[in-house]
Amino acid sequence: MSSTLDRSAVQAPLNVWQMAQQQLDDIAEIIGLDSSIHSYLREPKRVLIVSVPVRMDSGTHRVFEGYRVQHNMARGPAKGGIRFHPDVTLDEVKALAMWMSWKCALVNIPFGGAKGGVVCDPKNMSLQELENLTRRFTSEISIIIGPEKDIPAPDVYTTPQIMAWIMDTFSMQKGYSIPGVVTGKPIAIGGSLGRDKATARGCLYVVNEAMKELRLTVDGARVAIQGFGNAGLHAAELMSAAGYRIVAVSDSRGGVANPKGLDVAKLIAFKGETGTVAGFSGGEKISNKELLEYECDVLVPAALEKVITADNAPRIKAKIVAEAANGPTLPEADEILHERGIMVLPDILANAGGVTVSYFEWVQDLQELFWEEQMVNDRLRRIMERAFRDTLEQARRLKVNMRRGAYAVAVGRVAEATSLRGVYP
Ligand code: GLU
Repeated sequence: MSSTLDRSAVQAPLNVWQMAQQQLDDIAEIIGLDSSIHSYLREPKRVLIVSVPVRMDSGTHRVFEGYRVQHNMARGPAKGGIRFHPDVTLDEVKALAMWMSWKCALVNIPFGGAKGGVVCDPKNMSLQELENLTRRFTSEISIIIGPEKDIPAPDVYTTPQIMAWIMDTFSMQKGYSIPGVVTGKPIAIGGSLGRDKATARGCLYVVNEAMKELRLTVDGARVAIQGFGNAGLHAAELMSAAGYRIVAVSDSRGGVANPKGLDVAKLIAFKGETGTVAGFSGGEKISNKELLEYECDVLVPAALEKVITADNAPRIKAKIVAEAANGPTLPEADEILHERGIMVLPDILANAGGVTVSYFEWVQDLQELFWEEQMVNDRLRRIMERAFRDTLEQARRLKVNMRRGAYAVAVGRVAEATSLRGVYP
């Protein structure tokens, strides 16, 4: 194999797939990655595009487009969530699948990377329509998923209920229950204790490590969180319980801020009632853009990609940026934050708690032996602290930022497995 890098394809504005490839190219150069392995890792192993016909409540049918991408399976079965969002594209899913390969390698769990997505607007669909969509999508991708092949999970706008439908549809096709085909399930059908808060808990553990490293005090440290879904909401809850002060939050409809600290329990109740944090009376109204530049010590982007740019990076006040979202920071913004001495805990580290507890869930399903929550959280903490130290060590050794440190560890591991296995036939 020869390397077929086309750097001319990398032009502004980057789409996320170009961004993911550029991040790989960048680390390949730094660690001197073999060019054959580099070109191998630069493309997904397998891409499945499906049409998903769905009977809508009106009685008519609509056809949605869906994807399942498997990036690399050298270290084990592919693993990664499924996203239901109107802006899903194949390129985005390819990027997210590649990031899953690195993420699983960084926390050293025996999985490769995958991702799925359906272009749809779940906020404007009924529960029945969502179920129909989920079941037919599962059926369409069932040719490549399975507990020993590729294991989906929740991602943006997909829930434990949706995971239950995936598990049921796959099981119905086979004729018996196969809980290990998907993670993030409800507890009653083989889910793991602690999976719901795992992404946020993992993020908290690595932020705690970063605080120690930077000699900052947790008590009263100010946190701004963009996004109030599974990651953002639980981050607010767990971080405030750990002594941090949540000064600003936002979701797709807007945000709210209070330098003295927001009442997180009331905020969560408000979100439960209204579906948004916008309009919460315990603080001042702010926009999503303002949230990113808000006066704080820790900024947690926990929504979508490409929100931290060369434009706003110079105005970010935080000392730590913990990427609970996948891909929130553009490469040029990375450089600016690094030069300004801001420590970025990259997505493949900061949000790896979710897939780590997914791994525990899968193990429990295969063994039919379930763990207490304390054991889940203790093991998660050990894995996250280890991944933080591995990242920091590489960053120091190579004299690079934390993202490159994490990539050096992760890409190195995937490259080693890929090269040991060799090329078939
Ligand atoms: N969607 C989550 C992520 O991006 C979790 C994936 C999983 O649990 O497999 O890491």
